[in-house]
Amino acid sequence: MLGGEENVELIELLDIADSYCADHGSAVDVWRDSYEKTIDIVRSNVLVWYEELYPILKPKSVERIFEKSMGIRDGVKLVLRGTADWIDESGVIWDWKNPSRHYEVWEKKRWDIQSHAYTWAYGKEQFNLAVMAKGKLQVIEIERTEAHKAAFVELCWSIVPTLLTIDEAVTWPQRWEGWHCSPKWCPVWQAGKCRGKLLGDNPF
Ligand code: SF4
Repeated sequence: MLGGEENVELIELLDIADSYCADHGSAVDVWRDSYEKTIDIVRSNVLVWYEELYPILKPKSVERIFEKSMGIRDGVKLVLRGTADWIDESGVIWDWKNPSRHYEVWEKKRWDIQSHAYTWAYGKEQFNLAVMAKGKLQVIEIERTEAHKAAFVELCWSIVPTLLTIDEAVTWPQRWEGWHCSPKWCPVWQAGKCRGKLLGDNPF
């Protein structure tokens, strides 16, 4: 409960998680694990969040939406929108992740974009990733300086010329590095375009 006036009980949280999965499970097209195993993972991640993070955090805001202008250049106004999972009273922005395994810390510190974006948007320096994987917690603390934020703004502006020229004759540069570049996750692939045009729906 915001303000710490009332504590939610673990049993309530687990009930909410169970109900959510039951209500929305039918909307999932592809299950990477069985429903039962997925529920076990959800429950173990809720448990670790409740036992290890909840006691040490005090929310200033939860699911706070931002919309912030990056300025105007050559007649183009660039606006960034997003939602922060949790901004703590300490000033630290927290984001919850539930991947299948823990992250490499150096990778997140070097190229995580969300930390750049949110620290820029809220005028903060500290962004923590709370990574819950199979019931184990990993906390990655990322500091973003004013130089990081300035670089991030230029990164965003760098895509504007491409956006402005997009039409049927211009193709977007392909990127194969993400987990989502797969027939399981990418709708463009699934539609038989991009890599799906050549590799089909079961290439790996
Ligand atoms: S298949 Fe999807 S994720 Fe991969 S490069 Fe093409 S559009 Fe991007």
